[in-house]
Amino acid sequence: MTLHPVAVAAATGCSNSVLENEHRYTNLLEMLGFLKDRHRKRLKARPFPNEWLKIIKARVAFFVRLAAADQAELLDHIQVFLAEKNFEGCAGQEITDEVRVTIGAQACLLLLHRKTNYFPRLLTILVYPSTYLADEQRPITADIWEEGKASRLGETARMMGSMVLAWDAVKSGAADPADGKNVVLHEFAHQLDYENSASDGTPALATREQQLSWREVMRTEFASLRAAEETGIPTLLDTYGATNAAEFFAVSTEAFFERPVMLRAQHPRLYAELRNYFRQDPVEFSAERVKGG
Ligand SMILES: [Zn+2]
Repeated sequence: MTLHPVAVAAATGCSNSVLENEHRYTNLLEMLGFLKDRHRKRLKARPFPNEWLKIIKARVAFFVRLAAADQAELLDHIQVFLAEKNFEGCAGQEITDEVRVTIGAQACLLLLHRKTNYFPRLLTILVYPSTYLADEQRPITADIWEEGKASRLGETARMMGSMVLAWDAVKSGAADPADGKNVVLHEFAHQLDYENSASDGTPALATREQQLSWREVMRTEFASLRAAEETGIPTLLDTYGATNAAEFFAVSTEAFFERPVMLRAQHPRLYAELRNYFRQDPVEFSAERVKGG
């Protein structure tokens, strides 16, 4: 258990020194925040490497469809992201600029137009050449679980400090911006979910009003995806999103950026919540192919 300094002060009667320490601690955090912001400003001011831009144009299909101001903002974010995150290759995967930039460009799409602290819980990105096998426990009934290997494209967790991605899935996600599947957007949506107190599919929202509206819409939409999964009705959203509220947010984020026209038509309230949170309207730059559209 951690006691708040003020509670300790009340209990021990040494309020002055404790409050002073707390004051110093707050000043130190402000100072560190100031230094971090200054360093990030410097990173953004650097010229963007031409080689990196070539990689983005060749690999990341949504980039050329963004408005010029958004392209510039994205490149700024990529400079900070790549300076702050470590990459490690696994199972023989080499970490090249192509790997780092292709991942960074997609991850940073989630940061446009908002004040951001660049996925603060994430330190290291582990990259496998392709789908990898992980130990998994699957429920058979409520009490019986089977253990086995499951193939995965990516994963991350709140306390892990890391993320795992399969390079072939990263590449195919970047190459087709409208098939509804993007492992980078999915895993980094989980990281946004970790920015506030719980991993519950609700990222940090600005106001109480926004939180209430988000909860109500997500609860309804999640329930209808669960019902569709049980009855086998085809859905725009991947039914993996019916696993829990956190997966629902990650799957919805993929659909928001990759199938925005259909999402807006079929789930207008869900689309509106995501548009308010991300402060983006992907219909404006989508490459989505809509029948009859
Ligand atoms: Zn997930």
